[in-house]
Amino acid sequence: MTQSSTLKSDGPRLDRRSLLLGSVGLGLAAAAGGTIVASKPALAASSLNQVPYYYRFRIGELIGTVVSDGILPLGEPTGAFSGPSKEELQSMLTSNFLSTENAILEQNILVVDAGDQRILFDTGMGTSDLFGPTTGKLNANLEAAGIDAASITAIVCTHGHCDHVWGIMSDAGERIFPNAQIWISEADFDFWTDEAKLSYKDPAWMPAFVEGARRNLMPNQDRMKFFKDGEEFLPGLQAMSTPGHTVGHTSFIVTSGKDSLVVIGDLTHHHVILMEKPLTEFAFDTDPSLSAQTRVRALDMIAAQRLPIIAYHFPWPGIGHVEKVGEGFRYHPAPMVMQELPS
Ligand SMILES: [Zn+2]
Repeated sequence: MTQSSTLKSDGPRLDRRSLLLGSVGLGLAAAAGGTIVASKPALAASSLNQVPYYYRFRIGELIGTVVSDGILPLGEPTGAFSGPSKEELQSMLTSNFLSTENAILEQNILVVDAGDQRILFDTGMGTSDLFGPTTGKLNANLEAAGIDAASITAIVCTHGHCDHVWGIMSDAGERIFPNAQIWISEADFDFWTDEAKLSYKDPAWMPAFVEGARRNLMPNQDRMKFFKDGEEFLPGLQAMSTPGHTVGHTSFIVTSGKDSLVVIGDLTHHHVILMEKPLTEFAFDTDPSLSAQTRVRALDMIAAQRLPIIAYHFPWPGIGHVEKVGEGFRYHPAPMVMQELPS
């Protein structure tokens, strides 16, 4: 007798209708003679705010920890992504079972422990509510992960945007990471701290972005260093210039033995739209055309070399691989490792 015929003759049928009606669990309990009090489901009042919001993984001999600054909702996708028609955008999202109403980006902040260095890649939105109340979680999640802000020795910034550098200083003007050297490209430092842009009218968000960058970067010039394209500026950490999203946007290659990880920052913001159609332009790109060309060139290299990536804005925790598919790419999230095999 097969298992399915057993279910049909003796037990409840696991068909779609009974699943939709939610009757299977109660039916099984009744068949086993159990008692279920179904009036108050235990999780009914619980929220889906998950703890912990950090994730540890290995990069060769190194330990990486992804720590979230919270989600960053962009709203209706046509507001942020241009190139494909509204119908094309909706079709891409629908066929990937994603909302067509609100494009949600994560903020996956990487911490790497490497010898006596503890490196933090980007710092999130700080206390700003420019994108609503869901951001600004970095400090609480670092604490949850057992990472003391004072133990960070280097902050490495992919670029000078709000969701990457506004978590450097507190509202009271204090250094949140008091022992960290700050690394950024000179081009981005110059661009985003340029006082003249405080009076720009177009884009309308420019003065706010520059004001925030100045507030977080200017008080730290005594402990700031600029990396150069291709430079190994910290042991095992190489800068790779990926301009376009901002003038000095930089990706990083972390290497330990045979293993490496490419920290791609905002080379791509969306795991479907900007991968399937990488020439799509993103609202906050300083040079959208250069950004698209850089995205294709860098993702081509990453796919060809089968390098793992961590993407700042991809679905949590943002670690995975890139496959070249036609004129675009496909993101393959890496399985989360919650338990290691005994060695
Ligand atoms: Zn970003």
